[in-house]
Parts: sequence; C-alpha cells; structure tokens
Amino acid sequence: MTNKDLANLIFPDVNKTIEDYEKMYPKRNLKEGAVVTRFAPSPTGFVHIGHVFSSFVANKVAKDTNGVFYLRIEDTDQERIVDGAITNILKDLKDYDITFDEGMISETEEKGNYGPYLQSKRKEIYHTFIKYFLENGMAYPCFCSKEELEEIRNAQEKRKDRIGYYGRYAKYRRNSIEDAYNRIKNGEKFVIRLKSPGDFAKKVTVKDLVKGNITFPENDMDIVIMKQDGLPTYHFAHLVDDYLMRTTHIIRSDEWVSSLPVHVQLFQMLGVKPPKYAHLSPIMKDDNGTKRKLSKRKDPECAMHFYHKKGIPTEAVKLYLMTLANTNFEQWMDANKDKTIDDFEFSFNKISKSGGLFDMEKLNNISKNYLSRITAVEFYDMLLNYTKEYDVEFFELISKYKDFTIGLLNIERQQKKPRKDYSSFSEVRELVWYMYDELFEKHEKNYEFTNISDKDEIIKIMKTYVEKYYDEKDDQQTWFEKIKDLSEEFGYSKEVKQYKENPDKYKGHVGDVSMVIRVALTTKSMTPNLYDIMKLFGKQRIIRRIEELKRNI
Ligand code: GLU
Repeated sequence: MTNKDLANLIFPDVNKTIEDYEKMYPKRNLKEGAVVTRFAPSPTGFVHIGHVFSSFVANKVAKDTNGVFYLRIEDTDQERIVDGAITNILKDLKDYDITFDEGMISETEEKGNYGPYLQSKRKEIYHTFIKYFLENGMAYPCFCSKEELEEIRNAQEKRKDRIGYYGRYAKYRRNSIEDAYNRIKNGEKFVIRLKSPGDFAKKVTVKDLVKGNITFPENDMDIVIMKQDGLPTYHFAHLVDDYLMRTTHIIRSDEWVSSLPVHVQLFQMLGVKPPKYAHLSPIMKDDNGTKRKLSKRKDPECAMHFYHKKGIPTEAVKLYLMTLANTNFEQWMDANKDKTIDDFEFSFNKISKSGGLFDMEKLNNISKNYLSRITAVEFYDMLLNYTKEYDVEFFELISKYKDFTIGLLNIERQQKKPRKDYSSFSEVRELVWYMYDELFEKHEKNYEFTNISDKDEIIKIMKTYVEKYYDEKDDQQTWFEKIKDLSEEFGYSKEVKQYKENPDKYKGHVGDVSMVIRVALTTKSMTPNLYDIMKLFGKQRIIRRIEELKRNI
C-alpha cells in the first residue's frame, strides 16, 4: 500500500492535478514591477481602521504599479460568518475610494479570471493540493482526539517542552499507511497534518518589505492543513490561493509575522517561489502615556462608522491614512499643495516600523485644511449628504436655503489663507445656527457683548444704525465708513488709534460699535466677516434680529 492509495481513498473525486490549475490560472501578463495584491478579510461584518489601512496601502501599491488589487473572502472558519458581511466590506471600503479590480463584488457574485474568490467555493482546488501533499509523503492523516491532544500538551507542560504537535510528540507522523487506510475506511474522524521537514534548531531568514530581514527558527510543527470538515486551515489556503491567484505581494497586518516560517515552508514544499511579504504594524493609540493597539472594544475610532457619523470627509481620512502609511507624505503634501494622493508615490521603506500613532487632533487638522480648500459648492454637497443621514432638520433647512447656505460657506473661502472653521460636518450646525431664523428663534441665546454692555445704549445704536446708516447696496468700504460715522454720532472714536491717544475724550472706539452690531445680530463675539453675514441677511432680517434682541436682553 502506498501514499497514493491513501490519497485516493481520502479524495476519490479529485481528478485534476496541480498542473491543470496552473494552466487554468497562468502567470499574469503584466508589465515588470506590477504588483498583484489582495485584501483577504474574514466575513465577520466589522470593518475597522486596520482593515481600511492595509487595504488602502495595498490598493495604492497596485495602482502605483499598474498592478491588480483583488478581494478574496476568507470564509473557511464557518463559525465567524455574518450575513451581509461582504456587502458591508465593499461599501465601507468604497467610501474611501478603495475599489477592486477583481474578486467578490457582492455576497455571491465576483469578477475576474482567477476565482472563485470565496474560499468556501474552492474546496476542490484545495483538495487537489492536499492530495498532492499526501501522495508525496508531505502530509498525513491524524486521528488524535481532543483528549489525546490534551495529554500531549500536559506532558509538554510537565517537561517544560515547547507546546505543539511536532517531532516525537507528533503521534501519527510515523503511523503506517495501512493503519491510516483502515481507520478511514472504518469512518474514523481525522484531520490532515503537514509533515514538516523543518528543524527547530536551524534558522530561516525571511525578508519583509517593512520590517527588513527577520530570522526565525525553522517551523517543525506538523500543523493541520485540512480540518475535519474538509476545509483547509488559513495557512494552507494562503499557499494555494496566493499561488494560483498569482499574488506577488502579501500586504497584511503584522499579527501574521509569526506565521512566516510556516508560510515560507509551505511554498518551498510546493516547490514554488513565495510572494513578497509586507507586514504592517498596527495603528497605535496613546492611552494616558502608554502606547497600545487601537482596540475594537475600547476605542470608538476603531470602527469606520465613527468617522462617517462624525462627518469627517473621506478625503481627509485618506490623507490621514497616507500620513500614517508613509512618513514622508506630509512633507510632500506641504510642498505639493495642488496635487493629490494619486500623485504621491508610495514606498515600502517609508512605512513606520513601529506603527503609526493615532492622533485625532491631527486628523481634525487635516480635515480642517481640506475643508477650507474645497469650493463652497463642494462643501455644500457633502454637507447635504451628511445631514440627509444624520440631521434631517438641518438638511431640510439647507436644502430650502441653498444659495444662502452656499453664500455662508463661501465667506472668506476663496482667498490665500481661507478660514478654517470646520473640521467635520457634524460641527457645522452648531457653528452657523444663528444664520437661520428657524434655528435662531429656538436656540438658547447668550449675547456675548463685551465693552459696550448697557442695554439701552446697545438698542439705541442698533436702531440708529438700521434707520440712518445701513444700506444693503453698500460695498464693504462704504459699509465700514458708515459704521465709523455711527460711532462718531454716539461718542466713540472713528479709529482705534484716536481712542488710544485720547481715551478720556471717547466712550470707546469703532471696534466696540462693530462688536455691538456683530453680537446683536448673531449673539456671538466671534463670527466670519460681518459684512458678508449682513449682506446675506438683508435689511428685513437685521430688523427682525433687533426685535429678538429687545426681547432677549
Ligand atoms: N483572513 C486573514 C485575516 O483576516 C487574512 C490575512 C492575510 O492577509 O493573509 O486576517
């Protein structure tokens, strides 16, 4: 009896060979240097910033090199599957312009010539490879029960030996083919294990594109390659899929670094060149002075939904991810303000080895800069999208007053140093409520008057101003001249300087009077350019605001 007989008994239906698959999935016809890479999540339904980060990097590298980026769904762990997870993944990534050239495009459909891209549909392919391993004495069935594995573990703990299924502890490694054959014929349950040729005393060095050369002891564990349910384990599926899908670069999170000795060994056993590996360090967080990984459980900013809900524009998140990905990006961006992420060339050796530190303040700053540079119409459209989902009342208001809102968003925008009021869409309403009568009426009003605080004086100034001086048609200069005249009429100096030289002669200066107008109309002592605000208001609204003021102070 030979290994072949055993392999045929286990896989009676496998009638293709590895060569058949190699022909079906030939080497890709891409130009030199093109990177073929993938995002390979489990369909667990939760997309976190680590996923977005690694797929963002992989997508960027593939685009930069005119390569291929594909989506493979790793659903061999049937217990972790969540309904609708693929749709979710696609949508969450698309929000950040992460799209795929190949792979799954919905829960059930896919595109591309290297599929199936859903691992559970690849059983026949895996079986062909496992059969090949069995035939060549590189794998064997193992019949250990849970209890037996437990016993092995206890013995190892007692002797202070390494834990695992290897060497003399690998109970079925030396089992006869006949015995295995008979047990399987009798319906005994089994898994298939790798017959590892590795020697723990020897070293293997693997080059990682991010971390450099890493030296490990060789793998000597007879790892499970096929589970009892007939599906391969992650390690074996990685070998088969990334080989047949002709992946050139594995870009993934560094929780997989420790599996490298196994992965490289598997490729060697199959006799093919392993892909290049780039392990990305996780995004870290400073938690009261200690650096730790962002946690799904503790940190809301770990979930992509957080950014969506907060209304941080996706472009800002992308810019931020790029600053985390390549340490030279920020400097490049500063020097190339008119360019976009697509113009920047990503490099593996500029990835922070220790893992970027998540910094909300920095993200907010990036977002502020970004939002100050887009046009008012672009801003308006994004705000509309955001409020439609998260603030229907405000959505209706800005839809009703479209031009007014765009005008408001345009204040001090198209200039060399634009205003930087907003870092997210969720902040807009609280910064501009006073512009809309509907919101003004019901908002709590805390008039922030400063130097001039006498109620009668304030009301007198305002009434005189609208009746005698204010004209909607005035340009900014005339408008200001009139405020100066108004100041003079009330005993305030027309220039700040005059007042400073002769403080006894005046009640205050033109700045104090302008402040009265600003606060009377908006309640705020700090607002964007008052002239522009008043221009948007028009005379009737100004009169209404004075009435409100009388009622409220
Ligand atoms: N399914 C694995 C994960 O979700 C993929 C790891 C890899 O990219 O090789 O982490």
